Amino acid sequence: MVVELISVGTELLLGNTVNTNASFLAEKCAALGLSLYYQTTVGDNFNRLEETLQVALNRSDVVILTGGLGPTQDDLTKEVAAKVMGKALVEDTHTKERITEYFNKSQVKTITENNWKQALIPEGAIVVDNNNGTAPGIIIEENNKSIIMLPGPPNELIPMFMEEIYGYLNKLQPEIIYSQIVKLCGIGESTAETMIQDLISEQSNPTIAPYAKVGEVHLRVTAKARDEEEAKKLIKPVVKELKARFGNNVFSTDENETLEEAVIKLLTKNELTLTTAESCTGGMLAARLVNVPGVSEVFRQGFITYSNKSKRKILSVQKSTLKKFGAVSEKTAKEMAKGGVFATDSDLCVSITGIAGPDGGTEEKPVGLVYIACYINDKVTVKEFHFKGNRAKIREQSVVRALTLLRECILDVYNK
Ligand code: AMP
Ligand code: MG
Repeated sequence: MVVELISVGTELLLGNTVNTNASFLAEKCAALGLSLYYQTTVGDNFNRLEETLQVALNRSDVVILTGGLGPTQDDLTKEVAAKVMGKALVEDTHTKERITEYFNKSQVKTITENNWKQALIPEGAIVVDNNNGTAPGIIIEENNKSIIMLPGPPNELIPMFMEEIYGYLNKLQPEIIYSQIVKLCGIGESTAETMIQDLISEQSNPTIAPYAKVGEVHLRVTAKARDEEEAKKLIKPVVKELKARFGNNVFSTDENETLEEAVIKLLTKNELTLTTAESCTGGMLAARLVNVPGVSEVFRQGFITYSNKSKRKILSVQKSTLKKFGAVSEKTAKEMAKGGVFATDSDLCVSITGIAGPDGGTEEKPVGLVYIACYINDKVTVKEFHFKGNRAKIREQSVVRALTLLRECILDVYNK
């Protein structure tokens, strides 16, 4: 089944609002196994929207429109849809009551006249209640086609879509698409792809699609089947094979699990405590770890030792080390990690020191040179990296690689 998206709003055309609705909806449509060939963005203009909707209806089974359902003059979506489908707009009593109730509950007590515009619905259309705002969602079904209109604000659109529209679209679709993710770290995209080249070239159902993230590679295994159970059966042996090939590089098969969550799980499981010692990332590693609920069980302390003085004073980095090798060196990274463990009496410390740029690079030590060390059980492992990109990218990559090294070192010792 072919579905198409139309995003309505001049603010989208002007670039004032990022079209996050389209990305959200496209992802969900893909997950549902719907074919999506076109996305259009159109301003708040009656004629151009009418033309866009006509074109979409000619080539797609389902057209999803977002935005333009508000109370103001420039909100035209349902007026256009009603015209295109030859329907009159009629007042929906239920929606009128819901809007009254919504205003009674909210802080805003005055209902202005234009709010009642939102209770007008194309004759015979299905009304989808909005639990987070006033504009209802609307579905018009005719001649085996559906027009689905959703409110623009993401905090209204997302819950409405998940609660009502996802199931509606799923019913229209005889086959389901089900996918599972296999998340890798510590391996590059091209290496990962090469390792499964045979599987990719043989694939038909399920398919394997690699996606590169910063410091991670995600492999999405997708099956088409009659139901979820059958799809899971198709996916299972493929995921098993991927796990066998990538071994410890697989950090999760859970859609929502992040690398830092996987690392914290590993620390918790092995009852280990952690300290971080950061220079060029300035606390970004600690911040990512602290994003994870339950981190307090394992995270002991995060140091930001930006200056040489603080590296010496807090982490006991040798004056001679700094003098001879410099702050961005293998030796300094090692001493930072060791010093972090001794300063806090934790089981591990991961340290980061590098040149994030844009200034400060030399021929010998260029921008992007980063050393990451991990100290565990009296053993310190250090890695040298040469990252590309701007300051933000270099810092982000450093954090991901620090998490990856941390994970590798724990697995090395505890092999779990
Ligand atoms: P509307 O329903 O057109 O009145 O849109 C209301 C508000 O929703 C806009 O001001 C935007 O902030 C937001 N919005 C509308 N369309 C989108 C979109 N495609 N993606 C993200 N936000 C949107
Ligand atoms: Mg608008």
